[in-house]
Amino acid sequence: MTSVAILGSTGSIGTQTLDVIRRNPEEFSVEVLAAGSSADLVIEQIAEFKPSLVVMADAAAAQKIKTEFDTLQVYHGKEALEKAATQSDVIVNAIVGFAGLPVTLAALNAGKRLALANKESLIAGGPIVQKARESKNAQIIPVDSEHCALHQCLGGDTTNADEPFTTVKKLLLTASGGPFRKWTKTELNQATLEDALNHPTWSMGQKITIDSSTLMNKGLEVIEAHELFGIGYDQIDVIVHPQSVIHSMVEFVDSSVIAQLSMPDMRLPISYALRYPTRGEAPWGEINWDTMRRLDFEKPNEEAFPCLGLAYEAGKIGETAPAWLNAANEIAVEAFLKRVIKWVEIPEIIQMTLNEFDGVLAETEHDIYAADRKARVIATAVMEKL
Ligand code: NAD
Ligand code: MG
Repeated sequence: MTSVAILGSTGSIGTQTLDVIRRNPEEFSVEVLAAGSSADLVIEQIAEFKPSLVVMADAAAAQKIKTEFDTLQVYHGKEALEKAATQSDVIVNAIVGFAGLPVTLAALNAGKRLALANKESLIAGGPIVQKARESKNAQIIPVDSEHCALHQCLGGDTTNADEPFTTVKKLLLTASGGPFRKWTKTELNQATLEDALNHPTWSMGQKITIDSSTLMNKGLEVIEAHELFGIGYDQIDVIVHPQSVIHSMVEFVDSSVIAQLSMPDMRLPISYALRYPTRGEAPWGEINWDTMRRLDFEKPNEEAFPCLGLAYEAGKIGETAPAWLNAANEIAVEAFLKRVIKWVEIPEIIQMTLNEFDGVLAETEHDIYAADRKARVIATAVMEKL
């Protein structure tokens, strides 16, 4: 029996993780649930999965849950969240945004298997996450579908590989292209929140859905791939593949390409991360080869979607630059979700924030938190000027 901690249990990845566990009760038990403020949904989850520990970001939500289940351990706040991230065999980080960093670090420092959906923590905290990853038995298994695909194409866990991948020529990250794939620059000027939330192939949380519409999600995933697999930015390419059936590919030095295919359903990569190195039944991504007709590919339009290039730039600078990129993006996306800015202003705010980057090295955890705070202040100021 594998015990699982699900941090971010009320979100898109969190609820799909519970779906995988619901279907395999003999294999998995839920030991920890954590979420932001949705007390009512967590109360339902507790009744069904019977965890021994619950942590909420919000104090009032924790109090409400405590009233329902008076013998259950229920806590709130960052320290409790960090403690929760060390309590099970597998820690699923399904929190959205930079708020997931304490979970990533605590899980790795405790030598746990981290099933990582929260890409922002790895991107913003790259250098210090790498140090935490050296802890004995610590392991990151990516939940992001592209990186799960790459993990499979590369032949499994790479955390302690002595040799870098000398036989890899390229990582080929696929992108659906999002809802605006065929939009012109003039049309993009008029893009609304509803347009941006209308993703063609994936149903996900709001933040990542907006990131997919700007291609920032793919930019973040380029950095994520670099951090996970240690492959240089010049060897990571993005290919638009509108059907989202090929989840990514690896091209080797002999020009052989290995791809991973399945229908778009996050429960498959979640199941892979929970069960690695074995596999188990996960029927959701099954392909119907009788109706599968074609798989298309095109180049991303970097002019209409500048976020992709901005991410490569910040990734190549390294150190605290990706933390700045991530923070500016979170500020801009939040403002767009509140209808304070236009869609086309998202990359402008990020670019103008990165123009102020101070070059601070990422030597300690403190450097990352400080960079995040500073970039948020600058991004907010930049936004007010617009
Ligand atoms: P979501 O918005 O649906 O859910 C976010 C979860 O995080 C919720 O449970 C929320 O309560 C919790 N949360 C937010 N702030 C918190 C805090 N401070 N402390 C504790 N919990 C907090 O988001 P999502 O779409 O499930 O995405 C989660 C992560 O997975 C993101 O990093 C996203 O990029 C990544 N991801 C998601 C998908 C997908 O299909 N949804 C695919 C790949 C990667
Ligand atoms: Mg992805």
